Amino acid sequence: MEKTTKGKAFKIIRNLERCYGCRTCELACSFHHKGVFAPELSSIRITKSNRTGIIRWHMDSSCDLCVEEDQPLCAKYCSYGALQVGGES
Ligand code: SF4
Ligand code: SF4
Repeated sequence: MEKTTKGKAFKIIRNLERCYGCRTCELACSFHHKGVFAPELSSIRITKSNRTGIIRWHMDSSCDLCVEEDQPLCAKYCSYGALQVGGES
């Protein structure tokens, strides 16, 4: 997906196989929006089935492209490389 942050265009590269379901991206996103760590306020939601271990991602329309941040925070704080910033222009 294409993202624009502080006037720069980014592409967020998603690699679901690297995702551990830690949900740090949700905390980073809610901090961007509201300055608090509250997953329910995040644009990106991660669910992991306790039974199957299957992880699903959902990003809703409240994603504002991380305006005023140096880079998309969900990718910045994904320690596993499941979300990465690429293609800056
Ligand atoms: S921070 Fe990265 S590894 Fe953790 S749930 Fe989000 S995408 Fe997955
Ligand atoms: S780009 Fe920013 S606003 Fe969009 S999901 Fe990631 S952290 Fe949230």
